[in-house]
Amino acid sequence: MTMIRTRFAPSPTGFLHIGGARTALFSWAFARHHGGQFVLRIEDTDVARSTPAAVQAIIDGMNWLGLAHDEGPFYQMQRMDRYKEALRQMLADGHAYCCYTTQEELDAMREEQRAKGLKPRYDGTWRPEPGKTLPTPPAGVLPVIRFKNPTEGVVAWNDLVKGRIEIANAELDDLIIARQDGTPTYNFCVVVDDWDMKITHVIRGDDHVNNTPRQINILKALGAEVPLYAHLSMILGDDGQKLSKRHGAVSVMQYHEDGYLPEAVLNYLARLGWSHGDDEVFSMEQFCAWFDLDHITPSAAQFNTEKLNWLNAHYIKQTDNARLAGLVRPRLEAREVSVTDTPSLEAIIGLYKERISNLNELADAAEVFYIDLTPNAELLAQHLTPEAKPALADFIAGIREVAWEAPAIGALIKSCIGAHGLKMPKLAMPLRILLTGQAQTPSVDAVVALFPREVVIKRLAAAA
Ligand code: GLU
Repeated sequence: MTMIRTRFAPSPTGFLHIGGARTALFSWAFARHHGGQFVLRIEDTDVARSTPAAVQAIIDGMNWLGLAHDEGPFYQMQRMDRYKEALRQMLADGHAYCCYTTQEELDAMREEQRAKGLKPRYDGTWRPEPGKTLPTPPAGVLPVIRFKNPTEGVVAWNDLVKGRIEIANAELDDLIIARQDGTPTYNFCVVVDDWDMKITHVIRGDDHVNNTPRQINILKALGAEVPLYAHLSMILGDDGQKLSKRHGAVSVMQYHEDGYLPEAVLNYLARLGWSHGDDEVFSMEQFCAWFDLDHITPSAAQFNTEKLNWLNAHYIKQTDNARLAGLVRPRLEAREVSVTDTPSLEAIIGLYKERISNLNELADAAEVFYIDLTPNAELLAQHLTPEAKPALADFIAGIREVAWEAPAIGALIKSCIGAHGLKMPKLAMPLRILLTGQAQTPSVDAVVALFPREVVIKRLAAAA
């Protein structure tokens, strides 16, 4: 049986886009599902736009998501000699030819065709045909190399997502495969790479559907086996428009910054255009076991930030406190908060992780335990009412003696409110605000118990 080989072939011109990450995930999972191999290829031939920082951003994004490649990264710029050799082969076999038509001539040709209401295309002046005498190459003009596209018949493939797609060869121009300076063009590099890298399944965005018939024709001319193609529909934003920065984060590493866990992002992306019954929450092991190309929807998938947030909250709840502390600590350090052992970050996380939906919110919750806090005066005035003050004073007196654990502290709070005929929030609210600056916290006795006793005394004394 043939080894299944897929690839992810990003152009390093910015960051790893969330849509690119979905393509990478599907290619990776398909290879994993079949015990195959996943290749990473960096398509960096657009030298004006490709940067080392962008290459690094792709690698960082892939690493963060844990989408490990089995081969590569291969860099197209390092394979120029190989493309040139393939170009020579194409010329020698009569599948490509030198074309001396200049840019000015092409522009004039297009202008004339448009004026006549025709579709602009190269007129085939330099295309060799049996019995045709070619013009003499003009002196001083460097040729481009064009692919001799078949003129008859159709090029067709059974797209594994979109079904059968068929294009008449008559619709296709003779594509330029090398520029005047001899450098190969985009489609040619892709074809040689997919061939050399023995790619069996090309899984990519459907913005490449138009390239596919040209690539198939060139592959055939090279005598290469044509891979199978699966073109994934694009991802739309929450509002149905093409996903862009307007919709929030589009860079994978922005999700990292924004406090998402990679497993939440992966689980979310997996369901973006693919389904397995009603399953919404699953591990990558399950995904790889289930993933196939039959259950990819051909229609565009819509991004849903709420669902991603829900998944992130779910995974945060499932994650043990020690790992979460390891993820939250650098976020606090970046804010120049020095994290001490009392209270322990793990203990804070244990108390708060049920209530938040990302790591930054967890850091926000933890931060107040480690800084010198001055609660918002207005908020405090609103909750620290005259009737609450005597109960607070009793509580302050009581905490010097009480056993330092949530149940005993809870009992003390109850006795303080009982003595003054108050309801729980009357005392709980000012306590929350004085201790954490926030009106919403987990159970107040548990919050008090997290702090060292002296810190509670100090923070509450500020209100007296
Ligand atoms: N480099 C192309 C891109 O980033 C992908 C090419 C391909 O997958 O064939 O859109």
